[in-house]
Amino acid sequence: MWDYTPKEMIERKSLVINPAKTCQPIGAMYAALGIHKCLPHSHGSQGCCSYHRMHLTRHFRDPIMASTSSFTEGASVFGGASNLKSAIKNIFTVYDPDVIAIHTTCLSETIGDDIPTIISQCEIPEGKYVIHANTPSYVGSHITGFSNMVTSMVKYFSKKLGYDNGNVNIIPGFVNPSDMRELKRIMDLMGVKCIMFPDTSGNLDSPLTGKYEMFPKGGTQIPDLIDTGNSMATIALGKFASEAASIELERKCKVPAYTLKMPLGLKATDEFIMLLSKLTGNTIPYELEEERGQLVDIMVDCNHHYHGKTVAIFGDPDIVIALTEFVLSLGMIPKYVLTGTPGEAFESQIKEMLFEAEVDGKVKSYGDLFTLQQWIKNEKVDLIIGNSYGKYLSRAEDIPLVRIGFPILDRPVQTYLPIVGYKGAMRVIEMITNALLDRKDRDDLDQDFELVL
Ligand code: SF4
Repeated sequence: MWDYTPKEMIERKSLVINPAKTCQPIGAMYAALGIHKCLPHSHGSQGCCSYHRMHLTRHFRDPIMASTSSFTEGASVFGGASNLKSAIKNIFTVYDPDVIAIHTTCLSETIGDDIPTIISQCEIPEGKYVIHANTPSYVGSHITGFSNMVTSMVKYFSKKLGYDNGNVNIIPGFVNPSDMRELKRIMDLMGVKCIMFPDTSGNLDSPLTGKYEMFPKGGTQIPDLIDTGNSMATIALGKFASEAASIELERKCKVPAYTLKMPLGLKATDEFIMLLSKLTGNTIPYELEEERGQLVDIMVDCNHHYHGKTVAIFGDPDIVIALTEFVLSLGMIPKYVLTGTPGEAFESQIKEMLFEAEVDGKVKSYGDLFTLQQWIKNEKVDLIIGNSYGKYLSRAEDIPLVRIGFPILDRPVQTYLPIVGYKGAMRVIEMITNALLDRKDRDDLDQDFELVL
């Protein structure tokens, strides 16, 4: 079907073709997996739960555990309260998690199940928790679902106990476990004590030990989630995935909230490190200065490969915003920038960046890949950056694709390699530059085909 997309653009209001997003529960399920010994629970039909688990399993290449209320026709008509009550009892008896994190689906939201009331009617074992987030999929995206579940963590757990624990809370956004590890490494180098929530490292990148563990070692511990209310500050990385939880924490426990861009690229990483230094008074160690210097050296060395090249970027808003800033700092031209997640802040932020850089580009939130392909058909770009769904677009328009974002279903190992921080920026440059050089090698005439480029 990608070969039949017409060039002529007609305004569409009620039709999405090839969405650039997926549904809310996927994000909520991913966030819940970032709590230690937590079992995500999907309150809806088995089909929804299977789809969400499968999508996450394919991206992370690790089994994703989640239970379901397993709606049938009866629950669809009369509500899912009795299914959920049985589920909570069975889950604690059979799997013994410390937390059950319930998210709703389109069906349970449409029925109008009152989850807090149902939870209050259940017997919850001593020392165990049941939390919930409403995640109707006919609004928002998986990023909204992630944000809603992280906000619920604050609502259910965070407590102000009247002392300062000396920590900085970090809400990392919808990023891979490798990115969470990299952020913790940077904070460690900065001498900053932190509580990261959610934290999927150690859960979704756990080592092969030969022994199956339903609940691996990773994830934010419950006492730490409670203690987030006593930290000196919260840094939310990414407005769309993380800001709402930090604001809730400020409202509930008076912990000052700061929202930054995802620290992807030189400028955004600088801002993250400078804020850590400002909040704690700690100086920046030589290791980070050295990494930054290496990154700048690479930017200069490779500049002639990517400078002036045009690029289309699509995916999750926080990653796309940071990527746009980064490619601009590389001298590339982000001609088309699109996310499937709704939100005016996306368009205004990107437009401001393009205006400052004097770049004439197109921007769209709540857009789809059909629109992106039409833009490209009208004026081509040199490179596409986005998730695996971009491969159809890449093939149809014969443009190289750099895979960054979620989901990446057709390339292994990427969840183990970070894209944030100075080290991550080096990797992003490597991916961009090599994609352009591979393309040049493919297209060069014999006389231009060179060993050294
Ligand atoms: S019915 Fe709703 S929650 Fe279920 S998979 Fe579809 S969009 Fe997601």
